[in-house]
This record gives sequence, structure tokens and C-alpha cells, in this order.
Amino acid sequence: MIHTPVLIVGAGPAGAAAAATLARADVECLIVDKATFPRDKLCGGLVTERCMKLVRTVFNLDFDPAILNSSSDIKLMMNDTVMTHVVDQTVLNFTMRRDFDHWLLQKAIDLGANIRLGVGVAKIEKTQVVLSDETVIQFDTLIGCDGVNSGVARHLFSQSFDPKTIGFGLEVEAPLRDGQSVEIDFGAANWGYGWAFPKKKSITIGVGGVHAKNPNMKVRLKEYLAAHGVDPKDCKIKGQYIPFGDYRRMPGRDNIVLCGDAAGMVDPITGEGIGYAIQSGASAARAVMKSSTCDDTFKIYRREIAEIHDDLKRANLWRHVIFPRAIRPLFTKFFGETGTLSRGYLDVMAGRLNYSDLPKLLLKRIFMRR
Ligand SMILES: Cc1cc2nc3c(=O)[nH]c(=O)nc-3n(C[C@H](O)[C@H](O)[C@H](O)COP(=O)(O)OP(=O)(O)OC[C@H]3O[C@@H](n4cnc5c(N)ncnc54)[C@H](O)[C@@H]3O)c2cc1C
Repeated sequence: MIHTPVLIVGAGPAGAAAAATLARADVECLIVDKATFPRDKLCGGLVTERCMKLVRTVFNLDFDPAILNSSSDIKLMMNDTVMTHVVDQTVLNFTMRRDFDHWLLQKAIDLGANIRLGVGVAKIEKTQVVLSDETVIQFDTLIGCDGVNSGVARHLFSQSFDPKTIGFGLEVEAPLRDGQSVEIDFGAANWGYGWAFPKKKSITIGVGGVHAKNPNMKVRLKEYLAAHGVDPKDCKIKGQYIPFGDYRRMPGRDNIVLCGDAAGMVDPITGEGIGYAIQSGASAARAVMKSSTCDDTFKIYRREIAEIHDDLKRANLWRHVIFPRAIRPLFTKFFGETGTLSRGYLDVMAGRLNYSDLPKLLLKRIFMRR
């Protein structure tokens, strides 16, 4: 039997951020992950500026250029037709999650976090878990960072997500050809989009959107791949749920809190979740340090993540302006003819603007006509 004051389940960005924050304050913690690292994680790998700032403040790390790819050649598309081609105005940054997550986890370990990899949590009780190798770990506080299919969320709420509202994404890594632009195609999926994100050695091509509105996602991906000259037979198609659109209003209870994907913290328009995972992981660690009893942790955590919930609430409203089919012709016209809106969207995607800045841009568009 092992005892740890803080047990963190999951060593992705959320878990690594919680561990790094605790370790920097000399609070003992243990991270457990069923995978061994480096491990793959299905993801477009878009890293926003907001996320890069969080990496700096939470991990005290400057982004390693070896794991970053930047592009300022970006096409916003609707059904394979270019609405806007933006060059040298907005920079989008991408990473491979295999390298990025390993880099963050290594930093948490270097700071002093304890770690146990390659063994999953099989059973959860109020103050202990049982691992798949039957080790029992007792904890005072549990931070659930175990992703979209979270067992910690299932323990608390009997299901990890609501299948009616959850998103789903399919992706391939295809060979990179010279001069490929970043592409975002709003016609490639319903209530979602298609993406082609060039990395250092490959290009990630995928489609994702609200699962219930895209029963034919595999067909959509095949069409999207064909438009990019990629034969689906030549690549491995992988899929995963994306917990957007329905974040958990109450992500935890007493001495157990949920972070990142386990709490549904993904932007429902851009699909960004890495930054929220880091921010919520660090918030959970701060809540542990601020609480006088373990059962206070969740109460304090809710205050710490209020800003994330406000962002997600705003994004949920905006997606009713961006995604409905009836709005598409207007949307295509606006994005095609005005630099202001397309640049505004890209600045949100780059993490330079918040959704709260968008109404100002719309007013500018209406009154200044550009
Ligand atoms: C197709 C797709 C594209 C995406 N594109 C982007 C993008 O471009 N940019 C962006 O910011 N976000 C993107 N996201 C979202 C992003 O990937 C997630 O929001 C982010 O990974 C959340 O981090 P996390 O630490 O919460 O969870 P994860 O990164 O999923 O980590 C969870 C960890 O928990 C471990 N685990 C699970 N169960 C157990 C268990 N029982 N015991 C122990 N360990 C366990 C797993 O092995 C894993 O390492 C995308 C997601 C998908 C599916």
C-alpha cells in the first residue's frame, strides 16, 4: 500500500501541469498513467499563444523550437473552395503531441513529481485507488486528468461524457508536400471543421464536429482526404471523442477534481483543449494548496476555473452564429469579403483574441464596412 497526499491520474498536459505546480511548491504528489511516455495522442496539435504563455508560467519553460512548427500561410475554406487566403498576417503554431506531452511530463519529473507509468487505475474509492497491477494507493486529494473517457468522472457521475453532445474527430498523418498551407474548412463537417495542419515531417489532416450531427464522419474524412490528394488506404485513420460543447459545470466533488478533457474543457469552435488542460491542471494544484481541509478542494477549484467556464460559455454562444447550415451563405460572404472577420477568427484560433473581443470586430465591420 502506498500513500500520497495528492494523486494525479493521467500524465497528459493537465496532469503534468498539476504535478509541476505542486512540485514547484514542494507539495508531494504522484502521477499515474496507464501509458508509457512518449505516447501518441490524437490531436491537430494547434498550440495557441495563450497555451504557450501557460507553458511558460506553469512549467517555467520556453517553447522548444525543435517541437514547434509555425506557419503564416493560412486558407479558410468552405467545401474545398477558398474563402480567404491570409499570408504573413497571423502565425499559427503546431506541435506533435508525442513530443510535446513527453517534454512537459519530463519537466514535472525534473521538478520533483513522483511518477508511475504503464499501469492504469482500475478502481476508484473515496480515498484510495487500485491499479491494474493491484497496487493500492491511498490519497488525500485526487486530481482526475485522465482524458475524455475519464474513469474518475465515471466514478463521480456514472458516465464520462454525454453521447448526445460530445464531439468526435478522425485524423491521419499524411506525407508533407512542399508549400502546403494551413487549411481550415468549415464545410468539411457539421458543427465542426476539417483541418490540414503541416508539421515538421508530416501533415495532420482531419475532420471533427458534434458527433450526433455527423453520423457519416468516415465518409467526410475520405472526401476531405481525396480533396488533398491523399488515398485513405495509404494512411492509418484514427478517431477519438472530443469533449466540446458541454463542459461539466460541477467538475468534481469534495476531495476529487476533474481537469482538462475529463472536465469537458475544450473550445467548441476551435477544438482547442491543450491550453485549458494546462490552465485547469495548475488551478487544481493551487486549490489543493489553498484548501484547509481536503474536502474544501473542489469548492476552491470551482473559483479558480471560473475564467475557463466563462470562456467556454461565450464560445458556446458564438458557435450558434458560426455553425448552423442556414447561416453558411452569409458566413461565406462575410469571411470572403472582409479581412476584419477572417483575421478576427484566426486571432481567436491563434489565442491572441478572446471571444469577448468579437462583438467589437462585428461592429467595426458593420460601421466601417472593412
Ligand atoms: C481529433 C482531435 C484533434 C484535436 N486537436 C486539438 C488541437 O489542435 N489543439 C488543441 O489545443 N487541442 C486539440 N484537441 C484536444 C486536446 O487533444 C485535448 O483537449 C487535450 O489532450 C486534453 O489534455 P488532458 O491532459 O486533459 O488529456 P489527455 O491528453 O487525453 O491525457 C489523458 C491521460 O490520461 C491517461 N489515462 C486515461 N485513463 C487512465 C487510467 N485509467 N489510468 C491511468 N491513466 C489513464 C491517458 O493515457 C493519457 O495519457 C484535439 C482532440 C482531438 C480528439
